[in-house]
Amino acid sequence: MNAVLWTAFSLVALAPDKSLWTAFSFVALAPDNLPMMRVGFAGLGAMGAPMAKNLHRAGLLQSVWNRTSTKAAALAAELGCQSPSSLADFAAGLDAVVLCVSADADVRSVVEGLAPALRQDALVIDCSTVSADTARWAEQLLAARAVQFVDAPVSGGVEGAQKGTLAIMTGGDRAAFERARPILAAMGKTIEHFGPAGSGQATKATNQIMCAGIIRACAEAMAFAGAHGLPLDRVVSTLGAGAGSSWYFVHRAPNMVRGSYPAGFRIKLHAKDLGICRDMAARFGVSLPVVDSMLAEYATLMAQGYGDEDISATHRLKQALFEAAAKRSE
Ligand code: NAP
Repeated sequence: MNAVLWTAFSLVALAPDKSLWTAFSFVALAPDNLPMMRVGFAGLGAMGAPMAKNLHRAGLLQSVWNRTSTKAAALAAELGCQSPSSLADFAAGLDAVVLCVSADADVRSVVEGLAPALRQDALVIDCSTVSADTARWAEQLLAARAVQFVDAPVSGGVEGAQKGTLAIMTGGDRAAFERARPILAAMGKTIEHFGPAGSGQATKATNQIMCAGIIRACAEAMAFAGAHGLPLDRVVSTLGAGAGSSWYFVHRAPNMVRGSYPAGFRIKLHAKDLGICRDMAARFGVSLPVVDSMLAEYATLMAQGYGDEDISATHRLKQALFEAAAKRSE
């Protein structure tokens, strides 16, 4: 619903000595009749920009910030919101900040930049995929300033970010999660709380292990189909409706048909996530074959200069297997 529809109108009676004055005040109210939060979004990448647009559509977005400030200025001009260039100016006056930046060190530097300028009782929601340790670090640092924190990594790809249908897995204090819920609802469809700070990131790590196995299986299957000379478009449309299908097969096997792998979800970001999964499993004395083998494949692809391509580019390595075998048999 548009924010304008939530706007409440109130007439304020003034003291008798000012009786000729009539004051009108406009207070933006959310559907639950609580004042709407002034929300800022930091990190306008492939995910963050469409998520910020959905906050804008819900009438929640006050300002945006991005390390490369030209991106923030362009989005602010498009949406008609503010784009302060310093993190301190951005943080001041906001009730809540959502961030979606790349990796652990990036979240830590943004949180450190925000913390001194946030007002007491503000809320920080981190939608980046980082370690559970970073989530716990952020919660502690912000709690010292009476600011609440929720880790809220997302799944659903750029398409889910654009459509506002992300699955959002959260961790943190339950009351902080309830405050975050209306903000998250503007960006996602499936929103769940899993426990204390870091629980959202542990759930996301679980998801990233599945993604590794699935994208790898899709890539092997598509290279296999290609080697058999099958009509690949029909392979995708038919098997996409079969038992072996998945979100990745339906949405990313077409990249493999075209031999073009635009991000999407960059290889270097999934490699970062799998590094987190590997370290978390190692704390149990376990190494996970899907994680380790996918990390090795991503290392090869990054060394070949494909780190900024979508993870479906792992298909390159599977095709190379068949091409090498064909050469050997010539
Ligand atoms: P992206 O397109 O590469 O954008 C990264 C964003 O982080 C940019 O706005 C970048 O700013 C900012 N950033 C990086 N380092 C920074 C730093 N040190 N300080 C401040 N800002 C910094 O990445 P993305 O695909 O949007 O992913 C963002 C997060 O969502 C990652 O944690 C990723 O794992 C997660 N995620 C991605 C997907 C996906 O399908 N893409 C799906 C789910 C979750 P600049 O513009 O200045 O470079």
